[in-house]
This record gives sequence, C-alpha cells and structure tokens, in this order.
Amino acid sequence: MTISDIRSALHSETEQFLCDLIRIPSLPGQESEAVEYAERRFAEVGEVERIPLSNSLRQDPDYSDPVPDLEYQGRFNLRVRVSGAGGSTCRSLLFNTHLDVVPASQGQPRPFEPQVEAGLVRGRGACDAKGQAATLFTALLALKRLGVKLNGDVLVHLVVEEEVGGNGTLAMVRRGEQADACILMEPTDLRILSSVRGAVWFRVILTGKPGHSGRAGDTVSALKMAVRVIEILEQYHARLLAASRGIPLFDQFPNPMPITFGKLAAGDWPATAPARAVLEGVLGLLPNKTRYQVMEEMRQAILEGGDEWLREHFTLEFMYRHDAHVLDPTHPLVTGLQACCRQIGATGEVSAMTASCDSWFYNNQLRIPSVVFGPGSLRFAHSNEEQIHLDDIATAAAILARFIIHWCEQTGDKHE
Ligand SMILES: [Zn+2]
Repeated sequence: MTISDIRSALHSETEQFLCDLIRIPSLPGQESEAVEYAERRFAEVGEVERIPLSNSLRQDPDYSDPVPDLEYQGRFNLRVRVSGAGGSTCRSLLFNTHLDVVPASQGQPRPFEPQVEAGLVRGRGACDAKGQAATLFTALLALKRLGVKLNGDVLVHLVVEEEVGGNGTLAMVRRGEQADACILMEPTDLRILSSVRGAVWFRVILTGKPGHSGRAGDTVSALKMAVRVIEILEQYHARLLAASRGIPLFDQFPNPMPITFGKLAAGDWPATAPARAVLEGVLGLLPNKTRYQVMEEMRQAILEGGDEWLREHFTLEFMYRHDAHVLDPTHPLVTGLQACCRQIGATGEVSAMTASCDSWFYNNQLRIPSVVFGPGSLRFAHSNEEQIHLDDIATAAAILARFIIHWCEQTGDKHE
C-alpha cells in the first residue's frame, strides 16, 4: 500500500470513527465521553496521555467565559505521541483539534445521528471538528499500516472547549509544549491558512432611568442606549476596517474582521422604559492591532460617542480575547505542506482565516510556527447543514501522512 491508496483503503474505518464521534453530543463542558472515545481509538496509533484540567484555569488572563461556571474537576484533554527514533535533534510536528461542538442549529434534523449518503456525512461536528479528528486518526493509522518509522515526534492535542474560546488549548499551552511546527485543524477547504484574525467577544451592560411611558423626559431607556452603542461600535468598526487595509492575505476579503451583535436583552413591558440592557457581540481584529488596543479603543469610542448619561452608565466586559496570528508564507511549514497538497492533487492555496481559532496560542504564546488546515468547509460549520465528505477527509489524511514523513523524517538543521 502507498499513501495514495489510503483514500480507499481506510474509508470504512474513517467513517466508523467519525460517525461514532458524532453520536456523542459533546457540548462544551460535556465532552468526557467523546474524549474517552478518542482516548481508546488514538491508543491504536500512539501513546495517549490524559492531561487533567483544573478550576485554576479560570484565573488565567486568557481564560474565556461566555458560558459561566464551567467545572473543570475530573475533566481532561488528551496528548497523543508517536515517538520518533531520532530523538530531540529531529523536527517534531504538533497537531491540535477540538472535540467539543456547538449546540444543534434551528431546523437541524437529528444533529447527533450521523447520516451518510454517497460518502457525505451530515451531523453536528462533521467538519467542526470531529472530521478533523477523524483525519488525524486516519493519517496516523495509515503511517502505522505502512510501517513508517519516523525520526521526529508527532504530537496531537485533542482538546475541549474550543467553541467557548479555547480553554482546552489554553490549558495545554500553559503546561508548555515544544514542537518545531503546529498544524491546527479546522475546516479550511484544504487551504493553508498562515494568517488568522483575532477577535474579542464583548458584553455591554447599560443602566437606564426606568419609568412609565407617560413621563417622557424623565426616563432613560436602557434599550435605546443599547441601540446607540450599536451605532457607535459600528462607526468604530468602520474606522478600524479602514485602518486595517493592505494587510497581505486578508485584503482579498471585503470585510475580513466583521462586527456582529449577537444578543440583546432588555425590557419587560411595552410601555416602560427599561432599567437595564445587556448587549453582546464579537469584533474581529487583524494583526495591525492587539486585542488590548481594540478593547481600549471600543471603550473610548463609547465614551466619546455617548451622551452624558451613557458615558456614566455603561460597563464593558470581554469574555474572549484572541490576538491575530501571522506566519511568513515562505516558512517551510507552509511551503512543505503546500508541496504535499500538490502531490495529492490539491492546490495548497495559501490564504487567511477570517474567523478566530486557537492557533494564536501556539504561534504567539509558545512561538511554534503554526498554520490552520483541514478538510470540509467553514460555511457548513455551526449551521443546520453541517457536513463533510469522506473523500475530502481521505485526501487530507493522505496530504498529512506525506507531510509528516517529509517533516519528521528529516534530520539535521531543525530550523531551516
Ligand atoms: Zn466551531
């Protein structure tokens, strides 16, 4: 068998792995059964270690808390290792993907019952990101069946809580990890994303002066304050977008860093000015700004754009703060992965990710050169049509198997 044979040879094993995993509704905070499944299966291809989580994670400045009160005691991530024979002088390669999924979408039929039709698998997590875990499993299984002996180590982080802001990856990064490159697996249509935008999730709490609708002039509606904040932040976003033009790979997109207002809660009666409103949303950011700069500029925009009441009656909180990440597209991780894509018949297009993900933890905080790559399409992620094609998983697995051999077999100069 050669790597090209992987596409057909492992089809049924890939399908089984993916469908088993989709059947486990691993919402954030409830991933244990999925993690245990992955633990059993990845033990077939490497050494698997449980990495326990602890509640002290909540104290970390990069901890994300859009879902309050998640409990960490008794939960764990996985670290898989396929040891190379060459020791630490050989190049190692780290992979990461996540086992949690977002809740079912409105109108999504049977989200946790995988449906397979002519190789197309539907269900929650099919591409985001259980199909990614299936790809890694398939690639490592192929190398094992082919009897490939690597010089450098292959490591895999299988984590929880990516969807709420990357707390599982944060826990892995805080315990330290060394590798010469990282491929973070998310659905990219097999494009190599060497630049990834950042994001902040914000919550604005507004306090009005409540009262009867007949007392016009004496009341301040917190709901109207929220509408004003939406206007102010949209104007800020327009300025930020204008200042973020000309950045390579991002500039092909009309709006690579959108602002989205996702939640507004206010009021309890049509004829009463509400006392309180809570507005939540997400703002993207490109590498020309840090997350802290954007957070401060948002606060300033509200202070400068609001009237006296608004200026004194709002709080701005951040539940999620990710910086952007940039890797030079001429880095051997990018060019080597691109060459492997082309050998398998994919284009290996290098592009930017206009969503935020966990890659910046590795690239920016651990200084491990990182890209995002994977089968399936982001346009189906989080949707009621979530899906992935088994052929795309097989293609990605073949690309990764080739790349692992290319990267980890080489000895000598580690940082070429
Ligand atoms: Zn997702």
